[in-house]
Amino acid sequence: MGDSSQKAPAIVILGKGALNTARRIQQLYPDALIHGLVGRVAGADRSYSEFGATLRQLYQHDTPIIALCAAGIVIRTLAPVLLEKGAEPPVLAVAEDGSAVVPLLGGLGGVNVMAREIASGLETTPAITTSGELRFGTCLLNPPSGYALGDLELGKRFVSDLLSGERVRIEGEAPWLAQAQLPEDDRAELAIRVGYAEREPSANELLIYPRNVLVAVDAKVDNVADAVKAALHESRIALQSLACLLVSEHDMANPALHAAAETLNVPLRFTAAGSPGDMAQQVLPQLLSPITPIEGIAIVVAPQPLDIEQIGHGRGRLAVIGLGPGAAEFMIPAVKAELVRANDVLGYETYVRMAGPFRADQVLHCTDNREEMQRARHAFELAAQGRSVVVVSSGDPGVFAMAAAVLEALHESDNPLWHSVDLEILPGVSASLATAAQAGAPLGHDFCVMSLSDNLKPWDVIEKRLDLACQADLALAFYNPISRSRPWQLGRALEIVRQHRTPETPVTLGRDIGRPGQTLQVVTLGELTPEQVDMRTMVLIGSSLTTTFPRVGGGQWVYTPRWYGAKPLR
Ligand code: SAH
Repeated sequence: MGDSSQKAPAIVILGKGALNTARRIQQLYPDALIHGLVGRVAGADRSYSEFGATLRQLYQHDTPIIALCAAGIVIRTLAPVLLEKGAEPPVLAVAEDGSAVVPLLGGLGGVNVMAREIASGLETTPAITTSGELRFGTCLLNPPSGYALGDLELGKRFVSDLLSGERVRIEGEAPWLAQAQLPEDDRAELAIRVGYAEREPSANELLIYPRNVLVAVDAKVDNVADAVKAALHESRIALQSLACLLVSEHDMANPALHAAAETLNVPLRFTAAGSPGDMAQQVLPQLLSPITPIEGIAIVVAPQPLDIEQIGHGRGRLAVIGLGPGAAEFMIPAVKAELVRANDVLGYETYVRMAGPFRADQVLHCTDNREEMQRARHAFELAAQGRSVVVVSSGDPGVFAMAAAVLEALHESDNPLWHSVDLEILPGVSASLATAAQAGAPLGHDFCVMSLSDNLKPWDVIEKRLDLACQADLALAFYNPISRSRPWQLGRALEIVRQHRTPETPVTLGRDIGRPGQTLQVVTLGELTPEQVDMRTMVLIGSSLTTTFPRVGGGQWVYTPRWYGAKPLR
């Protein structure tokens, strides 16, 4: 549905009352996520805390917006960002009870098409106000995906001529106009012309180009964008009909090719290395042999618009993301966006579940917590096929988690395709910082982060580091403090700490911070026993200056002052 909009829409609701209508709309767009205001809507797919910032961000990221609230709220909210854009995503206001559907913005992005789809799903009539659309039953300036409009300004004049009573003929194949109510006449002066041939624009013609041309390029060609333009011009093919650039998969990370594709405003697709002619034949074997007007460039013209997703593959992406401690509000927006984009999600089952919900088309690969290197290699195998892959960690992926394993797997690999993957590490709020924030500022001065697990490092190294960190009077954050298979290590670690710190030293214990059933406890080093700690606990031990004072309402604030030595006079 809604083939005119590329991205899945966001359904944004303010209160529980809208959830039912939101769900009905979601059935029309199964990939759409429902965004609910935190604390007010339980059962949304994503929660947000600020309506305005959320709506503006979706708009700026070209996400179609279906807002279940008053049209005025949407208009006022988006007003500050409206002038920044030429092309814009569809934006609709829908009444909470589903009785009204109002297309507001994004006429060229297919907002009226969506308004019709939603209104028919909700069994109501859309509030269409676009005159051309009302008269002809279609927006001529918004051809379906796979077709490009020649010129918007000329197009607007053309439509207003039609509205003033002119007749029109259609040249070329425009299957989507079959159902439109156009004043057709074979001898009309105005013509809608659909075709890939290069043409001079004229006021009498509405030019629409099928995106049915593929150009395969050798990366050795100088100045690829200009060369492609010249080759198309030489062959009398319109640049607007170019659907994609095809190059060898060994050039997946080649910056010049990425720049050329951006200049030409088309996607880059990849296939096994070969001459441009061979590459074009690999991906479109059913077509006649390509034309090669210029050395290093081959052109293929297909009878229909090309389905880009079916041509070779895209550049794979691998993102190693940090979910933060658990609660959705503590997840950075870039991580949320990455989860929407993912084809494959890999990780320890608990974390994969925490990262959800996922759509039916997203493949989950849940593994045991111990198989990290294998998981990292699997991620590269998937990404090298052109898929968008996410590896999830809790907290920050660089803190005792998957980022280092992924980089180690890449370092060990001599597969050029793995090295060409678009790899990005997206940070998260680590458990020590999430716990510290709840307690006050126990890590407010220099501190040391350690994992007490001796699975991957010898225990005597842990003892030595701990001893030196204590000597340096650093506050300490212990990850992996204890587990069933490592029962005695924490007790031994505390013996070392007690050689350096007094029994009054404040200790913060955070368990399942940011998750359901979280607990926060402040004790002293003298009181602390290993029984108070398990593998879901973060242990923060103070330095000699860490101190506490009572909090109104119960409990204690803990902080380590920013100064050291004698307290400065202020
Ligand atoms: N990458 C993670 C840490 C993984 S190591 C991060 O940056 O947070 C796993 C250890 O982190 C656990 O044994 C526990 O000590 C700590 N931890 C992770 N999540 C936690 C949470 N929500 N609350 C308390 N401790 C947590």
